[in-house]
Amino acid sequence: MAERKYDVIIIGGGPAGLSAGLYTARARLKTLLIEKGAVGGMIINAGLVENYPGFADGVSGIDLTEAMHKQATKFGMEMLSAEVTGLKVDGKNKMITTPEGDFSAGAVIIAGGSERQKLDVPGEAEYIGKGVSYCATCDGAFFRDKVVAVIGGGNAAVAEALELVKFASKIYLVHRRHELRATKVVQEKAFTEKKIEFIWDTVVTAVLGEAFVKKIKLRNLKTNKESELAVDGVFVNIGSQPATGYLQGVLALDAVGAIVANDRMETGVPGVYAAGDIRSGSIRQTIGAAGDGAVAAVNAGKYLGE
Ligand SMILES: Cc1cc2nc3c(=O)[nH]c(=O)nc-3n(C[C@H](O)[C@H](O)[C@H](O)COP(=O)(O)OP(=O)(O)OC[C@H]3O[C@@H](n4cnc5c(N)ncnc54)[C@H](O)[C@@H]3O)c2cc1C
Repeated sequence: MAERKYDVIIIGGGPAGLSAGLYTARARLKTLLIEKGAVGGMIINAGLVENYPGFADGVSGIDLTEAMHKQATKFGMEMLSAEVTGLKVDGKNKMITTPEGDFSAGAVIIAGGSERQKLDVPGEAEYIGKGVSYCATCDGAFFRDKVVAVIGGGNAAVAEALELVKFASKIYLVHRRHELRATKVVQEKAFTEKKIEFIWDTVVTAVLGEAFVKKIKLRNLKTNKESELAVDGVFVNIGSQPATGYLQGVLALDAVGAIVANDRMETGVPGVYAAGDIRSGSIRQTIGAAGDGAVAAVNAGKYLGE
């Protein structure tokens, strides 16, 4: 495919990328957003987002990002479905590599968010799509009237357990600590939900089954006692890693691999910006990601105008 040239290329179509695209497209900058998966990013996993301003009764993550997508494309933002595998900077020219060919831009906004951490136990990889899932919104409906386990104790894990209440008959929330890390309001909802049972101080050591998942092996971290739990599905939500594998050696990354950027979202490489969960120090919330995207876009516009 021939090389194609844009003013701005945005990597990632979550809230940060979609907000950046709205601002750059509306500033009449020729903008391409490249997304490797579903448009909307991580927040499409949230059944109800209650802390994004402007929605008094909350909004589903899917509805919120569909509206963001529509708004940005209305102003001319182009989209490409592909995974970015490389970024090369040659002064004012930035080259983006994808399986669909190379693209160049004057400015690049990296809004790739993060990738789910795996349990890394026997059986996990084998049963992906056969009971092991990383997205309750995507896969929850397959578990109607079934028993599932959600692994994790942060906001995202508890949000997934609450999402699964719509489908599953029983949800075990397995957490390695004795208390949740989720926001208090989210915890209160989970504690009053009759279908959710908590298994504290416990980790998963294996996923077992036949054609599909049948049970998980557990180990209590306080007693070291091992046990088995019969489940039809396992939803893993134990944290995430910044999606920066292809940026090592190109940009400054912090100890966990997030991109180091200043309050103008500048990465240190002129014309390259970071926005959202992928940025070191991000609050890892949708409102923060959208704000970062706007800041990066405005500063990319200034850079291109210089
Ligand atoms: C279950 C759950 C519930 C949540 N609930 C809330 C909530 O109630 N309120 C709230 O504020 N936040 C919530 N969050 C957090 C919120 O989803 C994130 O903070 C937000 O989505 C971050 O946006 P982002 O655009 O920075 O990254 P992401 O949303 O992660 O989007 C990044 C996008 O970039 C794409 N991408 C990555 N690398 C590449 C590449 N190399 N090439 C092409 N595309 C790439 C990814 O596929 C992804 O679509 C929740 C998260 C989860 C998982």
